[in-house]
Amino acid sequence: MLRFAVRAGLIALVAMPTSALAWGRTGHAVVAEIARGYLTPKAAAAVDALLASDPDVLTERDLGSRASWADAYRRDHRETSEWHFADVELDHPDLAEACFGFPASATPASAGPAKDCVVGRLDAFERELSDPRTDAAERLLAFKFVLHFVGDLHQPLHAADNQDKGGNCVPLALGGSRTVNLHSYWDGVVVDALGPDAKTIAASLSAKITPSQRKAWEKGDARSWAMESFAVAKSTAYAVGSAPGCSNDKAPVALPEGYAERANAAAALQLQKAGVRLALELNRAFN
Ligand SMILES: [Zn+2]
Repeated sequence: MLRFAVRAGLIALVAMPTSALAWGRTGHAVVAEIARGYLTPKAAAAVDALLASDPDVLTERDLGSRASWADAYRRDHRETSEWHFADVELDHPDLAEACFGFPASATPASAGPAKDCVVGRLDAFERELSDPRTDAAERLLAFKFVLHFVGDLHQPLHAADNQDKGGNCVPLALGGSRTVNLHSYWDGVVVDALGPDAKTIAASLSAKITPSQRKAWEKGDARSWAMESFAVAKSTAYAVGSAPGCSNDKAPVALPEGYAERANAAAALQLQKAGVRLALELNRAFN
């Protein structure tokens, strides 16, 4: 698991020079599987119908795999690259600045604008998904973007930046010769630590969500959820104490005592919140 995560991290570093995949495929599948448990029968039927009607072959067609579709799509659609994160700066947190001043959405939402952040795009695709006038092809796109962006929004390093491409420029030493960048660590290592596969992780995390937590997490909106992720990045992810900026000669940073445990716990909580909130968004759209 760890070796795979490290390799995935290196690929991410090479292939994704600006902020990255946000949760790896496992993390996104965990969010989707948690959400599935909270869907109303009507929303669950709508989701199944959308999955069944979608001929796209970029990912497998099941819900967990479709949650990573937007990352696969952006390889040939670089105009969607900025939509996956909000680079809220640690030293002057300003969500509006990170979100390009919250530009108006094009119609259809899949047409942009390219300069928009995950908060603006999630809102735009959610509105479109809720609108019965949206045509079938655009509805499929809106569904797959919502499915993915709720996850991205909850990866702390997709809502924070230290002039280091959301941690992509921060090499971590994991012991021995193993290194991974901070962003990839939060995409994959913290998720892999939670269980052997997405379904197992989702079942275990879902079982621990109390009704009062769910109720509390359903409050707020994409903006407040982004700032919550930012707070986790500031308190936990960036507790590695790395210097701001990107330079090629950065020496790997050793993880502080207890960092891994705190990171795993924070990631588990973020995945739980994302699952509950994805269900909220889908239930809103389909009921
Ligand atoms: Zn993404």
